[in-house]
Amino acid sequence: MRIFSATLATESNTFSPLPTALSAYKESVYLRPGEHPSDTPLMCTAPLFVARRRAKRDGFELIEGSCFAASPAGTTNRADYEAMRDEILDQCRAAMPLDGVLLGLHGAMVAYGYDDVEGDIIERVRAIVGPECVIGVELDPHCHLTLKRVAGAEIVILYKEFPHTDVVERAEEVLDLVLRTIRKEIRPVMSLYDCRQIGSYPTTLPLMRGFVDKVSAMEGRDGVLSVSIGHCFPYADVPEQGGRILVITDGDKAKADRLATEIGQEFVAMRGRTAPDYLDAPEAITTALGLNGHPIVMADPADNAGGGAPSDNTTILRHMIERGVEDAAVGPIWDPIAVRLCFDAGLGAEFPLRFGGKTGPASGQPIDATVRVTGLAQDCWQSFGPTQVPLGDCACVRVGGIDVVLITKRTQALGLELFRNVGVEPTEKKMLVVKSTNHFHAAFGPIAKKVLYIDSDGPLPRDYRKLPYTRVQRPIWPLDEQTSPGLIL
Ligand SMILES: [Zn+2]
Repeated sequence: MRIFSATLATESNTFSPLPTALSAYKESVYLRPGEHPSDTPLMCTAPLFVARRRAKRDGFELIEGSCFAASPAGTTNRADYEAMRDEILDQCRAAMPLDGVLLGLHGAMVAYGYDDVEGDIIERVRAIVGPECVIGVELDPHCHLTLKRVAGAEIVILYKEFPHTDVVERAEEVLDLVLRTIRKEIRPVMSLYDCRQIGSYPTTLPLMRGFVDKVSAMEGRDGVLSVSIGHCFPYADVPEQGGRILVITDGDKAKADRLATEIGQEFVAMRGRTAPDYLDAPEAITTALGLNGHPIVMADPADNAGGGAPSDNTTILRHMIERGVEDAAVGPIWDPIAVRLCFDAGLGAEFPLRFGGKTGPASGQPIDATVRVTGLAQDCWQSFGPTQVPLGDCACVRVGGIDVVLITKRTQALGLELFRNVGVEPTEKKMLVVKSTNHFHAAFGPIAKKVLYIDSDGPLPRDYRKLPYTRVQRPIWPLDEQTSPGLIL
């Protein structure tokens, strides 16, 4: 048995001021066959990582392809996408004959000329491998679950958790189901229900937690092979935007239709009740100051690099400085120039620094302050579940009573190392501001006395009606009140 695996992934915020080029992939994940590390999966590479571990035991030969992944930002350049895609397709062609293909994709990648990158990749892989080969795909729930990609693959499985702590488990399932399909033990059929809604669904909140647990319990019995909940990725102006439910059963299309409809209708009924309450920055600071205990973790989802934002918005920090907040830390602010200046000034230096507020209008104004450099560290990383996410060189500067962590590799707040790398102990701070939508919760939730969510003026507004969509299929909630959800496959 011969199985090929590769990754091509990013999450494209088509409204982002940051273009995505080959350099962004080279900074994140840019690995040729055999170069993938053995000890940890990287961004969207879990299928290859899992397949490598299991090849011998499960009796197949793994042919490794390239793995390319970039941190979320704007649309990828067309020529760069086509070059990476064609490299993988050439590897796939050279690996023939194949029984199976495992693709670690994200699901919300957009390239100039390609609204549905994943659908394009799957369609081209199919043209090479033929109709008998089994294609299995792992996607992020923040994806556009398009008809083309679902129709083109035998197995599609999305992570269930947000924060995405189950990337490896879901990749194991993709491999399990691909192997069982190749061995003719199962005959997967899929149904797709379009919920016609845009929303946010952290699984750390009770309603969504219960929903995920309920659908998980349906799997592995009565012929139900897999249930995936497509949350959607709101910050992309693509036609097939929106939440969808995908059900895979063993040969029973009517049952898949029934179940997808039932689960889809329940998801629709949850509209407006799945996201946390958001405060504005002054309210959040007042609330945090009034609470006993520490740390009060305050999230800034509107400037989440994980959603393609620059992560250099200064609004919350400015309010904190103006209020004279003490005993607080903020991170990460992406500002490679400021980090360079801090390294040049040296540890302990006190000097006037301009930082943040650079990339676009939604970054706010830069902060000009006399800062003290309290921490410097090279080549840092932070952990997120089993994965290590690079931060690049980092500096910590103190402005009044606030420690600000500046980073060079743009990413969101995920692990406590973000602060500890530069000598800040997050558990000892009264207030901890983290730029992240909800992934921060995996590491910062357990240490938090309380978590507050702020809707700042960063580039990822929590009210999707503020986004300048022009190409999204309508009607869709909350842009439209009346919608017509239903089965589309
Ligand atoms: Zn995601």
